[in-house]
This record gives sequence, structure tokens and C-alpha cells, in this order.
Amino acid sequence: MNIEVAKNSGFCFGVKRAVDKTYSLIEKYRGTQRRIFTYGPLIHNETVVKELEKEGVFSVEKLEEVPAGSVVLIRSHGVPFDVYRKSEELGIILEDATCPFVEKIHKIVEEESEKGQDVIIVGSETHPEVIGIRGWCKRKVFVVKDKNDLQNLIKEGKIINGDHSVVAQTTIKIKDFEEVVESLSERGVKVNSFCTVCNATRERQDSCKETAEKSDMMLVIGSRTSSNTMKLYEIAGKNCKKTYLIETIEDLPLNEVEKCGTIGIAAGASAPECIIKEVIATMSEFITENGLEQNEMLAYMEDIEKALRLPGRGEIVTGEIIAVSEKEIVVNLGCKKDGIIPKDEVSLEPGQKLSDVFKAGEQIEAKVVKTKDDDGNILLSKKKLEVNEHWNEVNEALDNKTVVNAKVTGKVKGGVIATFKEVSGFIPLSQLSDKFTEEVDEFIGKTIPVKVIQTNPKRNRAVFSHRAVLMEEKAKKTEAFWNSIEVDDIVDGVVKRFTDYGAFVDIGGVDGLLHISEISWGKIKKPQDVLELEQQVKVKILSMNKEKGKISLGLKQTMPEPWENIESKYQVGDIIEGKVVQLKDYGAFIEIEPGLDGLVHISEIAYKRVANPANEIEIGQTVNAKILDIDTEKKRISLSIKETLEKPVAEEAPVEEVPTEE
Ligand code: SF4
Repeated sequence: MNIEVAKNSGFCFGVKRAVDKTYSLIEKYRGTQRRIFTYGPLIHNETVVKELEKEGVFSVEKLEEVPAGSVVLIRSHGVPFDVYRKSEELGIILEDATCPFVEKIHKIVEEESEKGQDVIIVGSETHPEVIGIRGWCKRKVFVVKDKNDLQNLIKEGKIINGDHSVVAQTTIKIKDFEEVVESLSERGVKVNSFCTVCNATRERQDSCKETAEKSDMMLVIGSRTSSNTMKLYEIAGKNCKKTYLIETIEDLPLNEVEKCGTIGIAAGASAPECIIKEVIATMSEFITENGLEQNEMLAYMEDIEKALRLPGRGEIVTGEIIAVSEKEIVVNLGCKKDGIIPKDEVSLEPGQKLSDVFKAGEQIEAKVVKTKDDDGNILLSKKKLEVNEHWNEVNEALDNKTVVNAKVTGKVKGGVIATFKEVSGFIPLSQLSDKFTEEVDEFIGKTIPVKVIQTNPKRNRAVFSHRAVLMEEKAKKTEAFWNSIEVDDIVDGVVKRFTDYGAFVDIGGVDGLLHISEISWGKIKKPQDVLELEQQVKVKILSMNKEKGKISLGLKQTMPEPWENIESKYQVGDIIEGKVVQLKDYGAFIEIEPGLDGLVHISEIAYKRVANPANEIEIGQTVNAKILDIDTEKKRISLSIKETLEKPVAEEAPVEEVPTEE
């Protein structure tokens, strides 16, 4: 005989959370005078409620029934906002076990009504969850069961055209919600719809149907007062003729058991695991007594035993994500308690939400931090698990000399603190930049590439170097640069500094020397006469020595040589304007253009006899001169200043008186 338990049977995550929290509170307040109450029955299950009563936990319908100083637990259905306010007035300690899915609906209706939207809740008006949701709306709110109910309201003129936000009670059928939204849209009502139906209900119903279809007998465990149990009973009944509702062991149809090949079991959201176990154990006993095959059943019992075992602190566990909220991830660990990973136990990028990274249904691995948090859940940490992986990555980066990205989070004496994932590291000032710096503020908040230069996982410390990365990048660039240049290449450069003998030009990470004699075809006294700092220039590589890291550059070589095509520029007889650049005993040199000087012989300075050129002209003076000769071979130009002057008229010699013969 086979026994098959439908998936997702028993407590849903919200109910499990509330029950666990209640038992946690019992432990917390045991031995104190404080009394514990639940706001309404914790779950629709008599056995559980009675168990709680044995522990002194009773259900109340109103806060006024509770003595001041007592603890009141809000069950998974949630409560209206007023209850929180009132509990304060009455001096009551509220412990909140509202299911995060329900909490999300509270938030939606609160925000939507603050935006000016009227709210429509699709659900049952008298259901505690709906009463709670209603209490978070700040404007008009309507509750409709389905589209027919909606039509009635419309007929009564209660819902008129305009904007409405629509949410769903978590346990209704999605179809009902969709039909209401569709009807509203068809009527031209502008709808903001939020399908807040909980997957747990749908999944439970789907697996119940699936199990019922292949079973000869179906047992639905749960209370007659639980609407979701009754829904399962209805679904099972439609798919398996022999379906029984099992509220207590007495309801088990043991006589039928031996006639069935496969027995299916489904349990409502408020049926605890111990009741499922009891049902199976009773059947097992019956089977043993009657000598029937019970292997499958024993296997299932083993599964349950396994599920009852809780993981220990420090254990690495894997489970399925069942819910992701803004604050936490809830993980089904396959045991009787769920695991909770709070947001700050997960590494997220800035601005990232948990729901951006994690989705319900996915598998997740985490480390057990506490076997019982304040709500009785197993507290898990993804970060603590990741930290080992992160240290491995850091050590690997150290061994392989690879680069990791670290975020600078703050400054400390002598450097800054930077974190790579969950590993914290120190960057000494000397390792922060390739230049000396004491200004660390500009690094704070930035993510920079670093090399790991030391690790100490025991002290949770590493030493990083940003400088090492910069220096390596520089070296790589330099190497690539040397490989990319050749003598005679014309390259772009930037003038970086001057010396008496020239200028240093950065030609792509490497400085080359531009000697003063290589700057201009003409004569210059200092490099600054023609260049300025940060000036962009094109220079020619005249020579290079990679080993010594030396490069000689030429600037004038990138400009036409003045003697090139001289004939096309100047002809004998042309009058040019030039500057006197040098005076000699035998004449004066005139700069016709940079790098092209002509000589005015002393005899060509003036028509009169000139004893010293300096007596007639001075350095820097601009003069006109006539080209007398161009010797392209010897690269000489003869000029004449006097030829540009008016020739003086010769004075008539006085006539000597000739003495007479007298
Ligand atoms: S919302 Fe879903 S998970 Fe939460 S209590 Fe309801 S059925 Fe359970």
C-alpha cells in the first residue's frame, strides 16, 4: 500500500511563524507574572488552541478584556491600525505575528488611500484578515466577494466611476479577483490592481487535487471551522470518491485502509505536523496489527522524524525560499521551523532590494546563526556563509596576484578601511595612490581596484594596495608604449617641464627630451621663447634607448626646413624685411625667417664707409634688405641694406683758382 502526502500540506509559512512565535513568548515569559493572550484564536485548530490554553495562552476578542501589562499576540491575519494605538493606551504589550504577505497589503492600502484612491477589497467582509486590511484604509473602502457582489454595489450606486485601488484577501481564488478587476475596467473605472492572493493557498489546493486524482482514498486533515481545510475537502471530494475529513483520530476510516492501494493525505493550513504524524502512526499501527505492507508508511514516518530535527548553530543549510519581503527572506528548511534571513544578513549592492536578487521557489544556502530568534524561527545568515567564500577569494587574489574591487568605507590613522564583499581591509596611505597623498577624503565611498598584499582571516583583516594596481597599470602602459614607437615616428606630446637645455615632453606616459637645438630652425635663447607648459605638440622621435628609458625628440623636424624650396620663396633682387640677429666686424646677420639668416657685408650696410656695423644698426632692429645672391649649396644668402636706400648724389668738387701769369 502507498501513502502519499500532498505537497504543501499543513501549516503555511504565516501560520507556522505565528505558532512558533507564540511558543517563543511562552518560553520568554515563563515564570513571570505576565500573561499572554492571542487576539482571536491563533489558528483554526482545536488541538493547537487547547494545547496553548494548557500553557496559559487564551484568546480574546477585545483588548479591553486583557489586564494592563499583559502580552497580546497578533495572529497571522493581522489587525486594523487602531489596535496598535489602543494597545498603547491600555498599556498592553503587542507582539506582532502578522504574516508578511498580509502586512504588505496593509502597506498598499495605506499608501493608495494616502494618494487619494478609494479601495476595493476582494474577499469576505467578515474574515479577520479583511477586517484588518480595512482598518489600514484612510478613505472609502468597499468589500466584494466576487463580480456578482460588485454588480450589486454598482447597482446600489455605491461604486461610481473614478480611480479605485483593488487588493485581494490572501486566500481567495485568483479568478474571483481577476473578474472583479475586469468588471470594473469594463465599466470605465480606472483601476490600480494589486493581486495579493497568497501562493501558499493555491499551491496547497493544486497539490491536493493532484494527490486526490491518483488516490483510492483521500484523507483531508483539519478543522471543519477552517475555510481553507473545507476548500481542500471540497477539491479532494471532486477528485476522489472516498474522501474523509479528519478532525481527530476518531474520524479515521480504518476499515477502509486495507482495501486501498494508495491513500492520499492533504492537510489544511492550520493542521500541525504532529496531527498528520498521529494520523499516519495510527494507520501504521493498524496495518502492523493486520499484517499489511507498511514500508511506504515507515519511510514517510522517517521523513517526518527528519523534519522534526532542527539544524544546529553554525550548520550550513539549504532550503527553498518561500517568501521575500522588504525585511527578510523566509526559507523552508524541510524541518518544523522556517529559517529567516534578515536583510542585513545578506550582501546587497547599494539600492538593491531583497526581491531584486531572491525569488520565491529558488533554493538558497545559508549558515545557522541562532536556532531560535525572537519569533522562535531559525535565524540564518547568507553573509556569514559568504564570508568564508569571500576570504577564499581574497586569499586566491593574494596567491595569484590578481586585482579585486574594494569599497573605501572610512579613514583611520595612517590610511583607510576598504571592504571587499564581507572582508575588511586596511589600505595604508603609502598604498593609496602612486603619488604621495594625505588627502583621503576623495577616496571615501569610492570603489577602487586593489591588490591583496597581506591577509589575516583570524583577525578578519587584510591589507590592500591601490598603488600596486596603479603601478602595474603604468608599467604595462609603458611597456606597450615602448613597443609601439620607433625612431622617426611623429607622436603627440605635452610639454611638462623646462630646463636650461630644453624641455621634457610627455609622449604617452614617458617623458622625452626636446633639446633646445631641436626646438626651432631658428636661434632661440631658451625653450620658453617658443613653448609653454601643457602645450600640445607634435614631435619626432630622434633616438630612443628602452633600457635606459631615454628618448630624444625634435620639434623643428616636424616643420619644413627653411632652405627647402628656397627658390620658390626668394629671388635675387627681392627686398625682404628682417631682424638684425647678430653683429660681426665684417657685417650683420639678418633673420629672414626662423632658421634662415642672410649676411649684410659691412660694405653693404651704407653708401658711406662704415668702420663698425654696430655704429649703424643694432640687434633686434627690423631692416629692409635686398637679396644680392642665394647660394643653395653653401646655404648662404647675401643681402644689402644700402641697395634699399637712396644713393646719395656726389657733391661737385670746388674749382681751384688758377693763378694768373701776372
Ligand atoms: S498569507 Fe499565505 S502564508 Fe500568510 S498566513 Fe495567509 S495563507 Fe499563510
